[in-house]
Order: sequence, then structure tokens, then C-alpha cells
Amino acid sequence: MTVKKSGRAPAKTPPKKPIHLKSKDKSAKVETPSKPKAAPPPAARPVPTPAPKAAAPKPAAQPPARPAPLPPAIKVKKTNGAVKVGVVGCAGRMGQMLLKMLINAAGIVVVGGTERRGSPALGQDLGALAGAEPLGISVSDDPSVLFDAADVVVDFTNPTATVQHAQMAAKAGCGLVIGTTGFDSDQLAALHRAAQRAPIVLASNMSLGVNLLQQVVEEVARILDPDWDIEIIEMHHKHKVDAPSGTALSLGEAAARGRGQSLRRLARRVRDGQVGPRVKGEIGFATLRGGDVVGDHTVIFAAEGERVEITHRAASREIFARGALKSVLWAAGKRPGLYSMRDVLGFSVQAPQGSTPNGSTPPGA
Ligand code: NAD
Repeated sequence: MTVKKSGRAPAKTPPKKPIHLKSKDKSAKVETPSKPKAAPPPAARPVPTPAPKAAAPKPAAQPPARPAPLPPAIKVKKTNGAVKVGVVGCAGRMGQMLLKMLINAAGIVVVGGTERRGSPALGQDLGALAGAEPLGISVSDDPSVLFDAADVVVDFTNPTATVQHAQMAAKAGCGLVIGTTGFDSDQLAALHRAAQRAPIVLASNMSLGVNLLQQVVEEVARILDPDWDIEIIEMHHKHKVDAPSGTALSLGEAAARGRGQSLRRLARRVRDGQVGPRVKGEIGFATLRGGDVVGDHTVIFAAEGERVEITHRAASREIFARGALKSVLWAAGKRPGLYSMRDVLGFSVQAPQGSTPNGSTPPGA
């Protein structure tokens, strides 16, 4: 279920004030935001005084003129239908990959990007950060400007930051595409609340292959009787901080749904020491970490005398970025609600009452 890489379009040139983006939407007119916090006035540049013709004491050497600060986000007045997109966590592994893809995508204008306070990426040009030509927009640590300027914001950060971003999306009525994983039940509840006022796509895995795998696993679990033990193995790179992965848990949810149950009651997330024989019906997880593995997931259905294994291997983060791009275009202009990748991809099944779009059990369930 590996998905192959897509092509790239040419990058843009840096805009100046007022900014006319050289995007595929040629008519896109860009202006700096009217809010004072959105675009701090450029620092006064020192004006060099011409030296007098007559010999006079040499003027002290002028310090090199500092470039005027770039705006943290830009407001695009007319886009001819192009979606105005922002990226929070834009210097992260996924953030940079996304930025590059969004800059080159048709029908999209990148209007800003943010990073956490203290990030070395702050102040850098967004285009340069993505390895493309400068965009004339700097990486900022003020997401509120971005949520005002954008139609949709993409978020691959961490659960605490994502909950704050979801609240900002709700306030601004801005779409939000969330790829972050590792939410606890309180944080999931906060996302549900925010989704009452903004369209939010929440997907622990944005790849087409993994979402297809979820469908298949649900169906196989429905077909096989509970004598078939279900175990899920996942491996990720050594920097991943949450375990089991959000995708592994979503696959567990899919299997539990197939059996008409909730994962919360069946999950065996860790085994260590004298744990005794396997409990019939439980869904077990095993987590591996190492190297630069982008993401491998295997669901095993094991019975007496035979075993079915279904595997997905991600070879590149591009598959997630492509899914995020699809989600951005899909979410623009949608009504408030919490949506899943299956909604985006168009193979949504009727989820049992009480389950959430990304397969995680809703808070309080
Ligand atoms: P990363 O650590 O490389 O990137 C996260 C970025 O977010 C960092 O640059 C960090 O500085 C930034 N950040 C943290 N707090 C912030 C804040 N308050 N405001 C703005 N930026 C902030 O991690 P990554 O590998 O890119 O993964 C990010 C998240 O996405 C993880 O939860 C990961 O599990 C998840 N992920 C999901 C998918 C998917 O398909 N849904 C795919 C890959 C990764």
C-alpha cells in the first residue's frame, strides 16, 4: 500500500508591499494586515549622510543597514478561488515537507507560518525554510495573526499546541487540518468543542494506504470470529514521542469496531513480566522505535494453525503531506464539524454511534 511521489511546480518570487504573489492564481493581490500586531512597522533604516566634498573628519562607519522585518502573515484580498493556507509548526519534519508542497500546489496561497517561542526558525523566510524561493513572509510565533489571515491552517505540532490552535480556529471560524497525534481524552474533548465552530479534519494518519488499511482491518475483524487473536505492531523513527502510534491505535479502533466493541475495553497497550496467558478478545500492541523509520504498521490476525498479516509501510513523509494537502482543499468552506480522513478520501463508512472520526473513542464513552 505504498504511494509514490508526485511532481513539483516552479516556486514563487518574493513579494513586496503591496504584495502581488506570483502564484498560479495570477490575480492574487496581497496586502499586509491592518491589525497593528499583524505587521509591525519596519525598523527605521539609518540614512547615510553624504560626505562633504572638502576634507573633513571621516564620518564614523555606518553599521550595515538591517533588512526590514518581513510580515508574519499576509492578508490576501482576492484569490480567484485559491485557498489561503497557514502552517503551524512549519519548521518541523512534517511542517517543512508540507510548506514545500503547499507553496508549489495549484489553488493554494500560503499566507503564513508559525513556530514555538524560541525556535531558531523564527524570522526566517517561509520560502527559504522550505528550500524554495523567498515568499516575503517570516516565520512567526503569533498564531492569532495567521488564523485571521488564513482559510485553513495545517497543524503537525504537539497535543498541547494543537488544542490552543483549535481554540483559535473556533474563534476565527478558520478551517483546521490536524495531523498531530497523542491526544488524551481531555484534549480530544477540547477538539470536539472547537469543531462546533470550525471545520476540523483530525487524522492520525493522512496517507491513502493507511486509511485503506483501516477499512480492510475493520472488515476482516467483522468476518473473523473472536477465536482469531488481534495484535498490532508498529515501528517509527527514534524521535517519535508518543506510543503506541496514533495510527496503531486507529487500527485497533477499526478492529474493535469490526467486532462491535470499543478499543478502550479491549486494548492491551503494554506487556511486561509475568502477565499470564493472553486474554481472549483483547487487542495487543507492540511498539518499536529506531533509526529513521517513517512508519510501519502490521495488523496480525492469529488463529490455531494459520495467521493473516496486513502491513503498511510508509517510505516517505510525502504521503502524509499529500493527504494533508487534499484535506486542506476539502476543508475550505466546509461547515463546522469534526471530520476524518475517510470523509476527505470519500470512503466514509457508517461509524457505530459513539465513535469519533479518527477512530478514537470519544471522551466519556
Ligand atoms: P517535529 O518535532 O519535527 O515537528 C513539530 C514542530 O512543531 C516543531 O518544529 C516544533 O517546534 C513545533 N511546535 C511545537 N510547539 C509549537 C507551537 N506552540 N506553535 C508552533 N509550532 C510549535 O515532529 P513531526 O515529526 O513533524 O510530527 C509532528 C506531529 O505530527 C506528531 O504528533 C506526529 O506524531 C504527527 N504526525 C502525524 C502524521 C499524520 O499523517 N497524521 C504523520 C507524521 C507525523
